[in-house]
Amino acid sequence: MHNCDICVIGGGIAGISAAAEMAATVTVVVCEAEDQPGYHATGRSAARFAQNYGPPVIRALSAASRSHFEHPPAGFTDVPLLLPGGEIFAAGPGQETALAEILAMGGDSLRPLSAQEMVDLQPLLRRNAVIGGAFEAGGDLDVHAVLEGYRRRLLARGGRILTGARVTALSGREGGWTVDTAAGVVQAAHIVNAAGAWGDRIAELAGATPLGLVPKRRTALTLDLPDRPVDPAWPMVVDAEERIYFKPEAGRLLVSPADETPSPPCDAQPEELDIAIAIDRLEALTTVKAHRIIQKWAGLRTFLPDKAPAVGPDPEIEGFYWLVGQGGYGIQTAPAMARVAAAMVLDQAVEPVLDPWIPALAPSRFRTDT
Ligand SMILES: Cc1cc2nc3c(=O)[nH]c(=O)nc-3n(C[C@H](O)[C@H](O)[C@H](O)COP(=O)(O)OP(=O)(O)OC[C@H]3O[C@@H](n4cnc5c(N)ncnc54)[C@H](O)[C@@H]3O)c2cc1C
Repeated sequence: MHNCDICVIGGGIAGISAAAEMAATVTVVVCEAEDQPGYHATGRSAARFAQNYGPPVIRALSAASRSHFEHPPAGFTDVPLLLPGGEIFAAGPGQETALAEILAMGGDSLRPLSAQEMVDLQPLLRRNAVIGGAFEAGGDLDVHAVLEGYRRRLLARGGRILTGARVTALSGREGGWTVDTAAGVVQAAHIVNAAGAWGDRIAELAGATPLGLVPKRRTALTLDLPDRPVDPAWPMVVDAEERIYFKPEAGRLLVSPADETPSPPCDAQPEELDIAIAIDRLEALTTVKAHRIIQKWAGLRTFLPDKAPAVGPDPEIEGFYWLVGQGGYGIQTAPAMARVAAAMVLDQAVEPVLDPWIPALAPSRFRTDT
């Protein structure tokens, strides 16, 4: 039996980071179904920080997270969390409108590029496959170091992580919750649902109305280039309509067909068709002839209908908080999301720069009867 103030369900980046923030003030236990934190979406990301990505609320959360990655708190990590690296949004023939929209939304943070400038920056691009683009100063995140930093912070503050602790039942009682897990029972005053693709399943266990989370499979692979080394300084390239992206990754090229196939919550695996589509699109956009795939994987990016996350109290069930729907941005927004979640659960003020976004994050926004 474990007693605590807050039980966080889910040991991905969302749950571990929020737990670490809350543990400064209260006692926290994280229940993670798998044998280690970060096994699902968190361990399968493309590890990118891209400011010009996602709806406005995501951009605000990303901007508010950046300083944590650039200047982590003392003792958080021994390695850089964010390695600067450029990103090109690449438009091909017929994608003029998509490119114009990207440039309009990005404002001063984007620099327009001619087709020749793009090829100069990323020599793998096929000159006649691009008509122009936009450049932003993005970067690669060390996801393992980010997760490990929060994990250490949580433990240093007296928090606990139970692994192999799949939550199987939740029962509310006067003043608190009983959480049945495969690793024992947890008693807590509040629950934070950070179960990623399983978020609506956890809500059902708590008697809360599901929010309509849709997990979507995304595939990635790495490959060697047959005739040249992969330059780590090459920028990431993202198709203007996000039909493919590729970037250097530890001496190899990481490629994704940017698929978004709805899936039940599961241990997602790559489909051969999606791998073939990735290769096909890569060979159309670049001069690469893909000959040896080194690694392939898939993970679930979990979205709410408006593509914004849900953070905050459930509108009906007392003591039940949501921290879900991070979609394709859950690593780069984690520091700000964790701070917002902690402030809401602990009934503290949300930092002024994020306070105006609270209605856009409220789980109650999906209620049609209010
Ligand atoms: C291919 C790919 C590329 C991506 N690229 C990027 C990127 O470049 N930048 C970026 O910011 N984001 C990216 N993302 C998105 C990012 O990975 C996710 O938004 C983020 O990891 C979500 O974190 P999470 O903690 O909510 O989910 P998860 O990491 O999935 O964690 C949820 C946890 O809950 C646990 N759980 C579920 N049910 C239970 C239960 N009953 N009891 C106990 N535990 C339970 C699960 O085991 C899991 O560990 C990418 C995702 C994919 C798949």
